[in-house]
Amino acid sequence: MTADFSLAGQVALVTGASSGLGRTFAGFLADAGAKVVLGARRAEKCAEAAAELGDAAFPVALDVTDADSIELALDAAENALGPVTLLINNAGTVTNRALVDTPPEEWRQVIDTNLTGCFLVTRAVARRMIAAETGGRIVNVSSMLGQTPTGQVHAYSASKAGINQLTRTSALELARHGISVNALAPGYIQTDLNTDFLNGPAGERIVKRVPQRRFGQIADLEGVLLLLSSPAGSYMTGEIITVDGGLSLSGM
Ligand code: NAD
Repeated sequence: MTADFSLAGQVALVTGASSGLGRTFAGFLADAGAKVVLGARRAEKCAEAAAELGDAAFPVALDVTDADSIELALDAAENALGPVTLLINNAGTVTNRALVDTPPEEWRQVIDTNLTGCFLVTRAVARRMIAAETGGRIVNVSSMLGQTPTGQVHAYSASKAGINQLTRTSALELARHGISVNALAPGYIQTDLNTDFLNGPAGERIVKRVPQRRFGQIADLEGVLLLLSSPAGSYMTGEIITVDGGLSLSGM
C-alpha cells in the first residue's frame, strides 16, 4: 500500500472532545500518530479523556462560542504540543422541537455553537496556520441532516447546512495557503448519549429507513476521518462526505 494515513508529526485539535464522537476521534488520531489537544467547556472531562491517551494528549478548556477562550486554548495547546496543524471542528449541540414552538434563544444557541463556533475556531486556527506557513487540514463534523430535511430539528439542520457551505467557501479561500477543508456528515451513530433513544421505539422506526438496516458505530467513521486528516486525502478539499448507511438516499 502506498497511500499514507499516518499523522506522525501532526498536532490535532478536537473540539467537543469531552464525550461522544469527539472523545473517540481524539483516540483515532492519537493511534495514527498525532499529538492531540482535547478541547471542551468541561476541562475536567477533557483531562480524564486526555489521561487515557497518555503523553501525546493535552486537555484545554474551550468554549467554541467565545473568541477569547479559543485564543487562550490555542496558546496553551501551542505551548504544550506545538502549533495546531489539524483541526477537527466537532463541538455541537442539538434540540428537538416543532418550528412553531422554538424560542429564538434556543435557535440562537444551536446556531452559535454549531455554526458560529465552527467559524470562530476555523478563523483562529487558519490565521495561525497562515502566519506559521505550516499549511494544515480542517475537518468539520456536519450531519446528513445538513442535506436531508426532517422534522423537529430546524436549528440543527440549518446549522449543519451552514457548515457544509462554510466548508466549501473556506476550502476555496484557504487552498492557496496549503490548508484543506472538508466535512464528515454522519447519519445516526450510536454513542452513550443516544443509545437509549436509538434502542427504543423511535429507533425501531428510524432503522427501518436505513438501507443497511443498522445504526452506525463510531468505528464506522474512523476511515473517513483519517482519509480527510492524512496525506492520503491531501488532494481533496471542499468535500462533504456522508457516512449514513444509505439513509439520505431513502429520505427521512
Ligand atoms: P455529544 O453531546 O456527546 O458531544 C458534543 C460535544 O460538544 C461535547 O463534548 C460538548 O461538551 C461539546 N460542546 C458543546 N457545546 C460546546 C461549546 N460551546 N464549546 C465547546 N464544546 C462544546 O454529541 P456527539 O453525538 O458526540 O456529537 C459530536 C458531533 O457529531 C456534533 O457536531 C454532532 O452534531 C455530530 N453528529 C453526531 C451524530 C450522532 O449520531 N451522534 C450524527 C451526526 C452528527
